[in-house]
Amino acid sequence: MQSLEALTREASALATGPSTSLAKIPVVVVGAPDGGAAEREVARQLQICNGCRYCEGFCAVFPAMTRRLEFGTADVHFLANLCHNCGACLHACQYASPHEFAIDVPRAMARVRARTYAEYAWPRPLGRLYERNGLVLSMALALGLALFLALAAAMQQGLWGPHGGGNFYRIFPHNLLVSMFAPVFVFVVFALGMGVARFWRDVTPVTSGAPVSAPAAAEATHDALRLRYLDGGHGAGCNEADDRFTLARRRFHHLTFYGFMLCFAATSLGTVYHYALGQVAPYDLPSLPKLLGAVGGLMLCAGTAGLAWLRLRRNPAHVAAEQKPMDMGFIALLFLTSATGLLLWWTRGTHALPLMLCLHLGAVMALFVTLPYGKFAHGVFRVASLLRHAVERRQPSPIGALGD
Ligand code: SF4
Ligand code: SF4
Repeated sequence: MQSLEALTREASALATGPSTSLAKIPVVVVGAPDGGAAEREVARQLQICNGCRYCEGFCAVFPAMTRRLEFGTADVHFLANLCHNCGACLHACQYASPHEFAIDVPRAMARVRARTYAEYAWPRPLGRLYERNGLVLSMALALGLALFLALAAAMQQGLWGPHGGGNFYRIFPHNLLVSMFAPVFVFVVFALGMGVARFWRDVTPVTSGAPVSAPAAAEATHDALRLRYLDGGHGAGCNEADDRFTLARRRFHHLTFYGFMLCFAATSLGTVYHYALGQVAPYDLPSLPKLLGAVGGLMLCAGTAGLAWLRLRRNPAHVAAEQKPMDMGFIALLFLTSATGLLLWWTRGTHALPLMLCLHLGAVMALFVTLPYGKFAHGVFRVASLLRHAVERRQPSPIGALGD
């Protein structure tokens, strides 16, 4: 067994240049813009962490790390998506800058994570395009689609006036909207499925290869729904701007996620009402679809506004600067979708209804089209990683006592 002293000596060498050990690591990412430098940096840092292990109780990454002595590309992709970017390990680290080891696990993981969204995306060129221009692309798409719909509405009945009499299906008929959104929805499900299938195929062999069991699935579901690893490992929360712990990100994440799910449930239930029960949309309070949509919309607005506020004041050492357009693009589209949805409801009896409807539909369409390429994918890859972690940790450690 390697002594701590030997591991520390090796860590020093890793910090200053390639070592024999690092040279053995097959981290070469074919087609990657930087040839896999982001993955190699995570591998370098984790070899040092493996000699230190101070952060073992913080999250799932460190126990998973201790089952490995070397970190190949698939290991790094798995661990990067297991990391929730809580920042705790940077603030606790005695080897962070200005120490020569320059350890910054949250940022190194964030870099790789952003790369995985683009590299596993289907089709890949769209993933890379969104990675570089997320915010601009999202807003341009939403406004472009809204403009297209506004022109169509203006040519029919005009954009401002008592058109529809409060019923927006008189402006864009229900069947027309279904024929626009259904193909996009099918494409999104297919593209996300292809992305996560590629990811799963890569990480399964390096996470024991064992099949998913019911207890592992239950554990991963529980951890994902509770956002367990945003509690910092001690329950007090993440580090955001500084050394202080806060549960704000976990709460805003919950508002965003459950708000999104309520809006999705409202739309699904509306479809059942419309087609199966013969109750023609739109619905108003106190109907269940409207209730779910209104509560979900308010939660989504509050959650995304909070996440944007936290993202802007986040300690720059936690994040990869190049990931900001992707983060902000997704947050902005979610906010725009929920805010225009609520405004659409409040302007139903006014002359602003046609214009508001075009804005809302443009935002929803842009959100759906970009779902497989941006921050939404992080939820899917993270759940897949939590699941592989729950499977792996039920298997004996491949490196025996060293792993424990
Ligand atoms: S992040 Fe720093 S303190 Fe934590 S395990 Fe790695 S080297 Fe040790
Ligand atoms: S940033 Fe948080 S979740 Fe990520 S490795 Fe560090 S402690 Fe774990």
